[in-house]
Amino acid sequence: MPKGQARAKAFLRAASDFFWPPRSLISGARGVGSGPLSPEDFTRLRFISDPLCDRCGVPLDYRTGDETWCVACLARPPRWDRARAALVYDDTSRRPALDLKRAGRRDGLPTLVGWMRQAGGVLIDEADVLVPVPLHYTRLVVRGFNQSG
Ligand SMILES: [Zn+2]
Repeated sequence: MPKGQARAKAFLRAASDFFWPPRSLISGARGVGSGPLSPEDFTRLRFISDPLCDRCGVPLDYRTGDETWCVACLARPPRWDRARAALVYDDTSRRPALDLKRAGRRDGLPTLVGWMRQAGGVLIDEADVLVPVPLHYTRLVVRGFNQSG
């Protein structure tokens, strides 16, 4: 990006933030700073990290070996190879997910995509094909965008 264009973009971002202060993705509080989360909201998020089930990605208390599966995957192995999530789905993480999916709130997308990339980057890098879950056209009309895209 040319230097002048970057400056113009930064100026417009600052002006936009002045007139429409960013809202936290979780609490909805305005004026959270330069990011989409206040520090308090960020600390409430429960990021998933190792140790986790190598199959479904659910957080575990400890690893049992090179290949560690949770009880659910051992009892009934899923038909797919691996899955990952960035966050534990709870009362805190539910809001940004549902705001994106149902309310079309896309200002947090770069942050959410970064977290997803960090959680599932290895899977994406090793994948032969990525297939987004298709969205029915009536949903697309109502929602205005395809969140899986
Ligand atoms: Zn599992």
